[in-house]
Amino acid sequence: TSIYQHKPIAVIGFGVTGRACVEFMRRHGAQVSLFDVKHDELRKSVGNEPLLKGVNIIPFNDDSCFKGFDTVVVSPGVNTQLPAIQNALSEGLPLISDIELFARHNSVPAIGITGSNGKSTVVDMLHKGFSATGLKVGVGGNFGNSILAFLDEPYDLIILELSSFQLELTFSLHLRIAAILNVTEDHIDRHGDIIGYARAKQRIFKHADICIVNRDDPRTFSEGDTHRLNSFGSFHSLKVSGVKSGFNNNPSHNANDSRDIYSSDLGISIGDELIVAQEKIRHLANHNVLNAQVALLCAKSILNTVEEMQCFIESVINYSGLAHRFALVHVEQMSNGKTIHWVNDSKATNPGAAIAAIKCIPDDAILVMLVGGDSKGTDLRELRELIRRRVAKLIVLGKDAKRFSNCCADTSFVETIDDAVLLANEFSHATQQNTYVLLSPACASIDMFKNYQERGKQFEQAVLRVEVV
Ligand code: ADP
Repeated sequence: TSIYQHKPIAVIGFGVTGRACVEFMRRHGAQVSLFDVKHDELRKSVGNEPLLKGVNIIPFNDDSCFKGFDTVVVSPGVNTQLPAIQNALSEGLPLISDIELFARHNSVPAIGITGSNGKSTVVDMLHKGFSATGLKVGVGGNFGNSILAFLDEPYDLIILELSSFQLELTFSLHLRIAAILNVTEDHIDRHGDIIGYARAKQRIFKHADICIVNRDDPRTFSEGDTHRLNSFGSFHSLKVSGVKSGFNNNPSHNANDSRDIYSSDLGISIGDELIVAQEKIRHLANHNVLNAQVALLCAKSILNTVEEMQCFIESVINYSGLAHRFALVHVEQMSNGKTIHWVNDSKATNPGAAIAAIKCIPDDAILVMLVGGDSKGTDLRELRELIRRRVAKLIVLGKDAKRFSNCCADTSFVETIDDAVLLANEFSHATQQNTYVLLSPACASIDMFKNYQERGKQFEQAVLRVEVV
């Protein structure tokens, strides 16, 4: 019999994940209570929803009490800063994420990826790369389906994209490899400060066999860390800043051994071995070269043969990127032979991602940038400084538009994406030089759009309309 048999179990939230948790617990014979803000609606729908039959549906609010439950599974969309959750945590009640529930029952080797930016991209690279070698790979975590469904599948390898929210309530996740890509400001409105946010991310290393950190971003590791560290980043940081930041002071670490991957003019290497030659990855954006390093380091640990590694490398070389992440929408050729590149980076919902995008624009091109939205209380100083140095025209929209005042001499405030695109088009043609128009808002989209996908789509449609005229 299951350890949950007849046990009182609570699930908070009835989205995709909550639904999977209720289903899992019912199958294991638990007495399930479901907490949701939409309890009225859910109670009414019990007739059409066999899953809810016999489930105790309870309102979720500031006064919700979770005493007496054996386990309380919190859906990833639920804000852990809410008083009901904070109170329960301070009382020491057994609150867990769906990832923790998965971890307690999973026996398939897993890789976990977290970070402020690049998670989906690295997970996608790993998925494609390992699948190319013939492994049966499950991918999940922070999006789409619930990973509880994976427990019944015969996977060779599971790849998890983990948010800091999920990690906060995850305690026993064993990973073959865990990586923190970067820690830059995001969700400060939910985590309080960057230290708390970094700490939540570092929980991923707790039971990992191999930990991958970013040498150029000291927030991805902590001083005195005794974990077995592998690292990625620049060649320079392997030699210099890694030492300064304390990374190479790690007792278990010798600089430049087979656990460190780096990029140089030659390409991507581990130790003395050149893994991918530079000419093969010239088309990858700078941050995707870093993402590729992480993927290749994972592959080195998991794959056994040279042939498998070769398949993986081929897949990384041919990686074409996900939609809305620094995606090229259109290239217009002007009559003088100069070009306008339109780039949709709507997924840049924090300053770190927007900074990474600016750094991918060729030095000799004019840059027109579209920013703004809900800035979530993040620190914009570094981004504003980079805009001041690099952006020729700034077009701002959304709730926190004012926070982008006074950082670019030529700034326009607009109400819609369409107006932003019209203005960008006018400016680009007037320059008669090679120009990039970059939508990389550094902000969440929810003040004006359903989500970042809708923002990106509207941008792409507006660009194609302008270009057809
Ligand atoms: P996440 O899943 O962590 O949100 P995505 O892969 O969806 O990450 O990318 C989010 C944004 O971050 C995009 O704008 C993308 O271009 C940018 N990005 C991707 N990889 C990195 C990286 N290694 N460092 C900084 N920014 C990145």
